[in-house]
Amino acid sequence: MDFAETVEHQALRKTVAEIAGRFGGAYYAARAQAGQPCPDQKRRWLPGIAAGTSKIVFAITEPDAGSNTHKLSTTASRDGDSWVLRGTKYYISGVNEADAILVVARTGHASATEHEATGQAATGQHEATGQGATGQHSATGHERLSLFVVPVDAPGLEVRSLPVDLMLPEQQFTLHFDDVRVGGDALVGAEGDGLRQVFHGLNPERITGAAAGVGVARYALGRAAEYARTRTVWDQPIGTHQGVAHPLAQAKIETELAALMTRKAAWQHDHGMSAGEAANMAKYAAAEAALAAVDQAIQTHGGNGVSTEYGLIPLWGLARLLRIAPVSRDMVLNYVAQHSLGLPRSY
Ligand SMILES: Cc1cc2nc3c(=O)[nH]c(=O)nc-3n(C[C@H](O)[C@H](O)[C@H](O)COP(=O)(O)OP(=O)(O)OC[C@H]3O[C@@H](n4cnc5c(N)ncnc54)[C@H](O)[C@@H]3O)c2cc1C
Repeated sequence: MDFAETVEHQALRKTVAEIAGRFGGAYYAARAQAGQPCPDQKRRWLPGIAAGTSKIVFAITEPDAGSNTHKLSTTASRDGDSWVLRGTKYYISGVNEADAILVVARTGHASATEHEATGQAATGQHEATGQGATGQHSATGHERLSLFVVPVDAPGLEVRSLPVDLMLPEQQFTLHFDDVRVGGDALVGAEGDGLRQVFHGLNPERITGAAAGVGVARYALGRAAEYARTRTVWDQPIGTHQGVAHPLAQAKIETELAALMTRKAAWQHDHGMSAGEAANMAKYAAAEAALAAVDQAIQTHGGNGVSTEYGLIPLWGLARLLRIAPVSRDMVLNYVAQHSLGLPRSY
């Protein structure tokens, strides 16, 4: 077993740290407070990556379906060469920055055979939990889901801001599809193959979320340790007191454990192996570690923990979100209980 990071990986981490370091925490906090993306970074860094492509956001969440992907009610009906979309999505991030939206919609009902085949693909091959779901169809769910690329300015698409009390650079939106007509070429892949395609993207999304959690935790702990080494209110730096040092050490241990599971999940995914269990565990562990690390960093800073200057509160929002999205902590626990421990499914 090889736990060493490759030279390429180390170089990537160093480069990302250098780039992010030039902007700093205050930059993130200011952007997050203003609810703005980082326009400057895009101009500077993304053109090469994004050359020839457009930014597309993902829309699966619905008010009446929630974590149960099989209850999605947004429909796409064929009309000649076109598709007509109707329904509502919410908590869709970054629509204001995007050219198009990748929409999950119901396109009909599957036969028992198709239903079975899709369910097997979802559980056996990809093993993600649906947006929360386990990748298995519910007893009543015989829906065929498909993916569509819908331009943000499509007639009939109403985009409404959905304010949240987290300080995030990305803004959130509710989308109403009122007979939104798109061409036949808007369908991604095969009709009815949406669930499999969605599941294919869920593990990488969870692994990315886990990596973000580990990064937030490490950053917060770095800031906290630096403060604890230098801030002196009695005779020694506050980090001398075990009441300050031990919770930081505990958070560090939990962060590095989450990092290990994140790397395992990424490795499994990269090698075409089933990464569902590791991806879910990594996302769970990283979200918990990030929240604990940021909370302890705030505590270590005393009153300065809530000051705008120190910029820790925006990180708390980010860490708190990771416990909910892209999949909630509870749905990860459902997955592990069912798939790792063989316990009966409760829902
Ligand atoms: C800031 C933000 C950005 C987002 N961005 C996007 C985006 O870009 N695109 C997109 O499609 N979605 C997005 N989402 C939606 C996000 O993925 C969902 O909020 C998340 O998956 C939880 O679904 P829900 O809100 O419908 O909660 P619900 O499904 O209503 O669940 C509510 C609570 O009940 C719990 N629960 C539900 N069912 C069970 C069960 N069977 N067992 C135990 N507990 C259960 C959940 O864990 C949760 O704690 C975003 C959300 C937020 C807050």
